Amino acid sequence: MTISVKKNLVSEAKYTLKCPNAMTAEYITIHNTANDASAANEISYMIGNTSSTSFHFAVDDKEVIQGLPLNRNAWHTGDGTNGTGNRKSIGVEICYSKSGGAKYYAAEKLAIKFVAQLLKERGWGIDRVRKHQDWNGKYCPHRILSEGRWNEVKATIEAELEGLGGKATSKPSPSVSKSSGSTYAVKKGDTLSAIAKEHGVSVATLQSLNSIKNPNLIKVGQVLKLTGSSTSSTKPSSKKTSYALPSGIIKVTSPMTKGTKVRQVQNALAALYFYPDKGAKDNGIDGVYGPKTANAVKRFQSMYGFTQDGVYGPKTKAKLEDLLK
Ligand SMILES: [Zn+2]
Repeated sequence: MTISVKKNLVSEAKYTLKCPNAMTAEYITIHNTANDASAANEISYMIGNTSSTSFHFAVDDKEVIQGLPLNRNAWHTGDGTNGTGNRKSIGVEICYSKSGGAKYYAAEKLAIKFVAQLLKERGWGIDRVRKHQDWNGKYCPHRILSEGRWNEVKATIEAELEGLGGKATSKPSPSVSKSSGSTYAVKKGDTLSAIAKEHGVSVATLQSLNSIKNPNLIKVGQVLKLTGSSTSSTKPSSKKTSYALPSGIIKVTSPMTKGTKVRQVQNALAALYFYPDKGAKDNGIDGVYGPKTANAVKRFQSMYGFTQDGVYGPKTKAKLEDLLK
């Protein structure tokens, strides 16, 4: 279903303040408003005030509102008058991030679908999506970052995009050549999952080859090994790791369910960046179906429109399998 966009565009008289430059966008930048106002209010405030700060879209739990034309730039990424973020990216603000909660998650969910739609319309892949932080280091989108969910959000956009029949990546990036050898220097805005995808290796492989504990902590300029030093003739596996998933129902019980089945569920969730406990040892993959695992299941269910009961069952299993096949 196409998400319709309501327009409340800034008057041309304010172009010199809000969007002075013509733009051919190349990226989409995601923000959190750090506020509790609706999309309609965010846009009417933005187009009405005398500050140059501007952005193209605000998304809340109900609708997407556009405030600037897409062929004009916005001042939203703090990387300067000629910064790529400011001059080449479409700004999408996700509302209600200050307090968070159900309204925020609903807004984020709509924003994810909307960004996937923008990518699809342009023939772009997930590689065109940036967070505000990538441009100037600002801690934005603050809620997604503080909850450690940027990779999860990107993975969900990517899954939505695939659902729309969109491309995985826009086109081979000119700066990246698959045949250039077995290392890659991290560029601004790169994520480990994007690099992994680009080079046809798994995130886990990159992590183990480069001893990366936290996939969110890669540095610009860091040179990553893409292949092992082994000279064995093993062909690179073209097949994704298969994720066996248990049948039946698993939920939080007392005492808590433990064991291989739970671990399988946790591994599948983590492969899609719904970590049971980001920041914990092994991201909380401990084979125990406790509240944190139930929470990861809830977030997963929320993203795919299922009842958010935190109970692993046939529907959740089918969707996980579908996304991981
Ligand atoms: Zn921002």
